[in-house]
Amino acid sequence: MRFRAAILGLCLAASAAWADPQKAAQLRDTASQADTAWQVLESLTTEIGPRPAGSPAAARARDWGVAKLTALGFTNVHVEAFPKKAWLRDAEAGEIVSPSPRKLMLLGLGNGAPTPPEGITAPVRVFDTLAALKAAPQSCCAGKIILVNQPMTRTQGVSGYATAVEARYAAPEASAHGAVAYLVRSISTGAARAPHTGSMQAWKPGERAIPAAALGVPDADLIAHLAARGPVTVHLSLQSHVSDTTAWTVSGDIPGSEAGAGVIVIGGHLDSWDPGTGAIDDAAGIAITVAAAKLVAATPHRRTIRVVMWGSEETGGSGAAYLAAHRGELGGIAIAGESDVGDGNVYGLQLPAGAWQAPDIAPLEAVLAPLKIIARPTPPEDFGADLENLHDAGVPVFALNQDASRYFDYHHSQDDTLAIVDPVQLRQNVAAWAATLSILADTNVDFRKAKP
Ligand SMILES: [Zn+2]
Repeated sequence: MRFRAAILGLCLAASAAWADPQKAAQLRDTASQADTAWQVLESLTTEIGPRPAGSPAAARARDWGVAKLTALGFTNVHVEAFPKKAWLRDAEAGEIVSPSPRKLMLLGLGNGAPTPPEGITAPVRVFDTLAALKAAPQSCCAGKIILVNQPMTRTQGVSGYATAVEARYAAPEASAHGAVAYLVRSISTGAARAPHTGSMQAWKPGERAIPAAALGVPDADLIAHLAARGPVTVHLSLQSHVSDTTAWTVSGDIPGSEAGAGVIVIGGHLDSWDPGTGAIDDAAGIAITVAAAKLVAATPHRRTIRVVMWGSEETGGSGAAYLAAHRGELGGIAIAGESDVGDGNVYGLQLPAGAWQAPDIAPLEAVLAPLKIIARPTPPEDFGADLENLHDAGVPVFALNQDASRYFDYHHSQDDTLAIVDPVQLRQNVAAWAATLSILADTNVDFRKAKP
């Protein structure tokens, strides 16, 4: 490729090729036949189901993770506990009161305040975009329920989500405009009535906490259409509680042959939202990384591969807890990667700057090409929320970019279940991860020094 030819030979200290593209290709082909990932995914979603951090199911998920890694032959299997202030959903309901009664499909947002037991009844003010709410005078909406009904753009990567999700965080903006509650059109690319939940940021000091919920896409549109005809009044009852609990991250190793070669940290997050069974978010990421590491385990390799099941991604905390627990050993982490976009096919691999030019990494491009995966020259921007703290602390990261164009039809909704997982796509992911891990585990490249 053009970018490589321009830079070839300039940078890396690599003198001999250590990584073996033939071995990587064999792992790729073996992965295309194996179904370990499907078995892991089926097991977690069937035996545990929804598992928000701080819920009783999260403790069962922790025990499941330890048992699964142990049964698959991982070593150094252990649990890392950390404190967790958990927002947990209780009973919720909503309906249009006038112009005529209509039941609403909604789900409260994490960190939303509860309504009083009798609920809230108030007129709705609809904004077509978040920008329109921000531009409105602060006096616009005292005593009203604000609805932001901004649709999400379907994109191959996660850029559509990154833009749309800002509206899910906008309850403080509604509060500042005097609203008594905040409603947001589900952050979804689908048209199903099932609402898509998700977290908001924690309330900052001085902000007036208000209840907040996501409406099913058709319900948000209905309110907007009614509001275009005249006043709309809605009743909301959103109960929830916050408690001081414990969350757990589980990890296990596939040991490498050279103790000093550094560890590759990979994984997904064990926690999930509550309406579905967390199949694509993120049992898939755990299944893919466990299965890929297990395949590499069957071959000789230099670096240890550590699979981590982070325990609180959705409502935050597991990335910071992992950094805190491992701050003294960051230099021993060669590189890190997280799988957290479900079963969407991998279409690109991003490595730390300059790494694609290393003589023993460059052949990986041809190994991945039959999977329709391209070598992307830019370092990753989106590499998994649980890795952000490690990345900020200087740990190199890689990203196997996944097609997200279908993911947000189901994400954080009751339809995130095993039924929407495509076993063929799941195997494509495992093949991509296994081939990539094989090369990353054997290369002598120091990713901290790999600069073009
Ligand atoms: Zn996730």
